Amino acid sequence: MEKLRYLKKHSFRHLRRIMNKSLLIYTIIFLLVLFFKSHVSTASEYASEIFSKIRTENLDISESLGSYSKGCLAGAKYLPSNQSYYDALKPSRNRYWGHPNLINFIEEISQKIYSQYGNGILIGDMAMPRGGPMPFGHKSHQNGLDVDIFYQRKPDYQMQRFDLETYQPKSILTENQEEIQNDLWSNYHHELLEIISKNKMVTRIFVNPVIKKKLCIQAIEKNDTDWLKKIRPWGGHYKHFHVRLECPQESGSCISQTPVRDFHGCNEELDNWLKKDKIFESNSNKIKKWILLSDLPKSCKKVIQ
Ligand SMILES: [Zn+2]
Repeated sequence: MEKLRYLKKHSFRHLRRIMNKSLLIYTIIFLLVLFFKSHVSTASEYASEIFSKIRTENLDISESLGSYSKGCLAGAKYLPSNQSYYDALKPSRNRYWGHPNLINFIEEISQKIYSQYGNGILIGDMAMPRGGPMPFGHKSHQNGLDVDIFYQRKPDYQMQRFDLETYQPKSILTENQEEIQNDLWSNYHHELLEIISKNKMVTRIFVNPVIKKKLCIQAIEKNDTDWLKKIRPWGGHYKHFHVRLECPQESGSCISQTPVRDFHGCNEELDNWLKKDKIFESNSNKIKKWILLSDLPKSCKKVIQ
């Protein structure tokens, strides 16, 4: 009897020891699976994939966060479509969002152009509803302060959705991208860029180096080159130019670029840009692809919630 009790007691202890051991092993396996799962999903979720899946804005107070090339946008506003002064092309891309300063800028500048020249302007990409890196097309346009504006004027008919999706604005450069198409270029383009450059909210305008050269020649002739310092040469940009606004005062986490030098930049700097390979568009997709959520400001995690 005593022996039986002893056996029972010990086999129970043995069983408990085995159970504790297996529980420990299962817990370790569970934690390892959890760790690898979270690690793998973070690695595969590039910020561009996360941000491009979100189709609506959030309702936070509007704030541009981070830099133009590593940032995001809280409380984005959308650019109203079908206006007489401007139209936004390719609405299906859902990139017509921006900081309220950008929306106000587009409305103000397009009305000014309309009253002076009798035509509206055509708007290209701005930002996605929460900003962030785009899966294709741009390295910047992330914190709601960048907008592309086409050289071609807005047609004077009411553009329907189909027109907005399919309209193909012309290049202002020849096919080899080495010369301006003189039959397409006019004083209007020179003045359009001058008016926008003189706007206080604008910090930089990116144009093709060939176009900057044209502006330099005309501005030097007129002895009015001060506004050219904001006009920065960049490859591509032959159908549109890219306007960048300065950080809004109330966006404390917005990272400004170094201010432009107080110089028109029409000499050696431009010659360097005019070297053949620098007039073409650079492929920034490779860089964007590798931007992870953890590369953006921490506050961008709240923006995508
Ligand atoms: Zn752009």
